[in-house]
Amino acid sequence: MTIGPSTRVIKADSEAVAAAARCLAAGGLVAFPTETVYGLGADAQDGIAVARLYDAKGRPAFNPLIAHVPDMAAARGLARFDAAAERLATMLWPGPLTLVLPKAEGRTVADLATAGLDSIAVRVPDHPVAREILTAFGRPVVAPSANRSGHVSPTTAQHVLADLRGRIDLIVDGGATPVGVESTIVSCLAEPVLLRPGGVPRAAIERVLGQSLDDAPLQPDGDEGEAPLAPGQLASHYAPRSALRLDATTVSASEALLAFGPQTPAGSEPVRTLNLSTRGDLIEAAANLFSYLRALDSAGAASIAVMPVPHHGLGEAINDRLRRAAAPRSVT
Ligand code: AMP
Ligand code: MG
Repeated sequence: MTIGPSTRVIKADSEAVAAAARCLAAGGLVAFPTETVYGLGADAQDGIAVARLYDAKGRPAFNPLIAHVPDMAAARGLARFDAAAERLATMLWPGPLTLVLPKAEGRTVADLATAGLDSIAVRVPDHPVAREILTAFGRPVVAPSANRSGHVSPTTAQHVLADLRGRIDLIVDGGATPVGVESTIVSCLAEPVLLRPGGVPRAAIERVLGQSLDDAPLQPDGDEGEAPLAPGQLASHYAPRSALRLDATTVSASEALLAFGPQTPAGSEPVRTLNLSTRGDLIEAAANLFSYLRALDSAGAASIAVMPVPHHGLGEAINDRLRRAAAPRSVT
């Protein structure tokens, strides 16, 4: 058992905003109000901080997270906007609208934040406290709802404290959140698609687009997170091209090896080895998971042998992703 941090609660004022920005910069977890619900924020570019966030929520799966930024200029650093996305952002941001867009080139967010996908969910929230924190911090912040996995989303600082006391560093108390439901999610990877209804009504989006909106509802994905349905339209999870061989205790010379822990498996020297965490730390392993899978996928090996990962803590979510990545899939 690790003992979590002691959780400070401070009333939202300029000092609280500065403390929140410092805490995020130090890799900490900060709950703050947005206009929808309280978000649990972490530095989106810090893989370890993002792994801690999943751990604090007790999520059994890595769902891609929404990156929050203070304005359109910051959003352009993360994602590519087509004409429809551009119109939606211009008319409806700041506000409870999340856009799923192609990820921009270069340094955007940690691979774990998008669960390894090439798309990214972006939002400019319309809450003074959220915006001040994002502006003061100056980098994108991932912020799923600030509750334990499977619990309802918090609309007050007291709800957050009841769920996450001792598991996060700071709660900025800005009173009750005005909207109280999650953001509407629209994918603009191809024709705009409504992935999740939320704070911005469908009609408002259709008015901006001048067309009706197709639906591809997100499905509950093992906890309060959701995963996109529509196969072929949206990749619901990162899938390597190479076959994965799970729970490998031996390795062959034609394989790449995704190792975990100090011991290496018996057998030949693999094509390439990457170790998720030589000291067996599951937070570090989660932070490395998607980028190491990608790197081994391009190593030219016949398959990727994956050493067993213990199933406790973040191990459950790591194993969930490994199982999905290993599942046979149809090629389209
Ligand atoms: P929340 O947990 O309320 O912050 O919601 C995050 C939602 O955004 C989840 O339903 C995710 O599946 C969805 N999401 C985030 N990133 C992506 C993405 N790149 N593609 C599709 N859905 C996404
Ligand atoms: Mg939630």
